[in-house]
Amino acid sequence: MPGRTLPTIPQADVAAHNTSKSCYVTVGTKVYDITPFLEDHPGGGDLIVDYGGKDVKDIMDDPASHFHSESAWEILDDYLVGFVATEPVMKSVTNSTHPADIVPLPPSEAGAEQLRKDGVNQPLYENTGMSCEEDLSKETDASSDYRTHKFLDLNKPLLMQVWRGGFTKDFYLEQVHRPRHYKGGDSAPLFGNFLEPLSKTPWWVVPTVWVPPVAYGTYLSSQGLSTVGLTSYWITGLCIWTLVEYVLHRFLFHLDQYLPDNRVGLTLHFLLHGIHHYLPMDRLRLVMPPTLFLVLATPFWYLAHAVFFYDWNAATAVFCGGIFGYICYDLTHYFLHHKTLPAYWRELKKYHLAHHFADYENGFGVTSRFWDWVFKTELPMTPPKVIKTS
Ligand SMILES: [Zn+2]
Ligand SMILES: [Zn+2]
Ligand SMILES: [Zn+2]
Repeated sequence: MPGRTLPTIPQADVAAHNTSKSCYVTVGTKVYDITPFLEDHPGGGDLIVDYGGKDVKDIMDDPASHFHSESAWEILDDYLVGFVATEPVMKSVTNSTHPADIVPLPPSEAGAEQLRKDGVNQPLYENTGMSCEEDLSKETDASSDYRTHKFLDLNKPLLMQVWRGGFTKDFYLEQVHRPRHYKGGDSAPLFGNFLEPLSKTPWWVVPTVWVPPVAYGTYLSSQGLSTVGLTSYWITGLCIWTLVEYVLHRFLFHLDQYLPDNRVGLTLHFLLHGIHHYLPMDRLRLVMPPTLFLVLATPFWYLAHAVFFYDWNAATAVFCGGIFGYICYDLTHYFLHHKTLPAYWRELKKYHLAHHFADYENGFGVTSRFWDWVFKTELPMTPPKVIKTS
């Protein structure tokens, strides 16, 4: 009897699944999650949603609604997710000497494993616990998330929890790449003290702070270069940036396996990029804070001057083109997450959000897919039909 591994679901839980996003119905003690069927229902999805969380035996038998054939009942069976524990049922369970014969108990570990294998109620992408980009904006229940995963409590300052959590690297990496959504996209507490405002960077800070120095640097280098020289060095810098963008995201932000397995490593990972995967829709923890940017950009200043050692103006022009590329990148990244965009960017948006909800080990390009294509880390843009398990 295959149904034995299915969980018992409290009545209140069943009743709560009454929207087109998640719609359960019952027939007797059987609970069906018919959300995926809503679109296919011959009588229309809304008709079913009206019965969301309720028993549909009578309406399905009622010839006045519309005819439900034998196959309708068979279809329903495909969506069986558990058994409801109504009060009378629970009463007889309590009285029975063989309670498991009346309602199967919640699945044991082996049973849960079977459910997982069969893909019952499971997200499409096991690594992230999500199925689509809309999932990124679904509110996380902080306390149940904490109870289930024993990772971070979203209502308490996050940084100290990472620092003191004693997490192993593997556990940390597995958890931090499962997106959460805090209070409609608000910023969860990070420091929890007077430093809190420093952890937040609105998107407009990036052009405000960095466009003036780029303009000034470009002006300086224009003093010693011809227009053609200036333009070609500057555009060279811009092109180099696209590769830097890819390399930083893939090899620094997602240092993942090479990360030292200690609290310093994990905390730095969290501040650098982990928090953006943990809370991808947090508007104020998305673009790079200027201080962090300075730290990352300084070596590139010296690198540019080492490579183009023969001409200070050329090196500066290349650097300025590169920084301009960075500004475009950070703004693009912000807009991909938070704005409705014209066609070309809509595709990029899908692509980048897939990096969050589907596969964070691929799809590192934000402003283009070019380097993903070159280095074979391109994300497939048609969703897989099978469950991705690794
Ligand atoms: Zn990562
Ligand atoms: Zn992102
Ligand atoms: Zn990433």
